[in-house]
Amino acid sequence: MIQQYDVIICGAGCAGFCAAVAASRMGIKTALVERYNTPGGILTVLGNNSIDQFNNPFLKRKKMIIQGIGWEFVMRLYKAGFAAIPDMNAEYINHSQYGIKVNPVAAAKIMDDMLTESGVHLYYGQPVVDVACESDIINSILIATKSGLKKLNSKLYIDCTGDGELASFAGADFLSGDGMGDFQPGTLRFYPAVNAKDNILNYGDNQNHVKLDITDSDAVTKSEIESRKMIYEQMQKGSKIMAIAPAVAPREGRRIRGLTQMNAEDYCSGKLFEDSICYSYWFIDIHRNNEPSYIKYIKHEKTPAIRLSSMISKNFQNLMMAGRCVSSDRETNSALRVKASCMAMGQAVGTAAALAVKSDLQIAKVPVKEVKRILAENNAIVPNFTQTVEFEKIFNQ
Ligand SMILES: Cc1cc2nc3c(=O)[nH]c(=O)nc-3n(C[C@H](O)[C@H](O)[C@H](O)COP(=O)(O)OP(=O)(O)OC[C@H]3O[C@@H](n4cnc5c(N)ncnc54)[C@H](O)[C@@H]3O)c2cc1C
Repeated sequence: MIQQYDVIICGAGCAGFCAAVAASRMGIKTALVERYNTPGGILTVLGNNSIDQFNNPFLKRKKMIIQGIGWEFVMRLYKAGFAAIPDMNAEYINHSQYGIKVNPVAAAKIMDDMLTESGVHLYYGQPVVDVACESDIINSILIATKSGLKKLNSKLYIDCTGDGELASFAGADFLSGDGMGDFQPGTLRFYPAVNAKDNILNYGDNQNHVKLDITDSDAVTKSEIESRKMIYEQMQKGSKIMAIAPAVAPREGRRIRGLTQMNAEDYCSGKLFEDSICYSYWFIDIHRNNEPSYIKYIKHEKTPAIRLSSMISKNFQNLMMAGRCVSSDRETNSALRVKASCMAMGQAVGTAAALAVKSDLQIAKVPVKEVKRILAENNAIVPNFTQTVEFEKIFNQ
């Protein structure tokens, strides 16, 4: 039996989670395919439990630039005692002071809740392993299940795998790393063998860096072995470590070619386009092996925005992407990959996909103004459409 959906989202990280909730809440038949048994991606499974950045600290008063499903998730965690939300109005010292730390176990549980409440069909522990296409249409995907390979059909597909796996299996164009084989280092998170002081802050806050090319499985295998060796050596020197994440967390993967490509000049100057669909806030931050990060800051009081057209595939008319595999140059990708931005992108593509299905339109033809209207109705902050918001207003709700 082939399962038929309106939209299939591959990858249940911050982007895929929000895309699935947004699409399913609009009443279309939505499936979410995830290779691990747990949602959350880098936030939960791979152990980086900090969510940046819902605010632009340099705006006056109305500093919150992202809300919507991402913020709803954070507030649910906060109210249950599993998120530490800093004062978003605090005077700027550095960007990471505004990171929201969450307990990864509780975060995965709240994601499960929000996904099941909104009616998403979940395929956990079932990676997408192949894609069948005809000309510029994706017809179906193959997932690996406990009982063998299974075919899933859908009208639309959204690649939220971070590494751009769905799109690359389909044969879509992509860029990766610096284009000459160099990639930002990945990090294998490990958890110190100490009693956590509280539920949130002492979890997984040590790291090791290693060269990581996610487009090459043999290279990934080598990086995994190298990372574990580095941690083991640290243990031999006395570090007390009890657990590691199941994989090295990648900072960058494939950037799938979209109808447009986000570039650093537009990003840093906060340039707005008709199809700018959500905001993002982080500086250009390319991590390097054995030298300081390459950094470029955003123009003062400007807020970068992400275009919907950078999330629509150039090669396939029924493929979109969100999260760190969106169409962008390397510099921009190093900024817009932060988790709150991934969440905002996810909600935007999930909404656009649902509108396309409901109005029987190609995704490239969906009226952007209508997508913006629906996003705003669902508490998203939309460039050139709604205003940014005061922190107190959405924190004390
Ligand atoms: C070491 C490190 C530190 C970071 N620090 C911060 C920080 O402090 N603050 C911050 O905001 N951001 C930080 N980031 C960036 C941020 O965590 C990521 O860019 C963001 O989480 C990406 O979200 P995503 O949903 O696009 O991808 P991911 O979180 O990578 O999710 C992708 C999902 O797709 C799944 N998947 C992959 N392939 C397949 C397949 N074939 N089939 C099915 N599922 C698949 C994966 O298992 C995963 O669940 C950090 C990143 C790293 C690596």
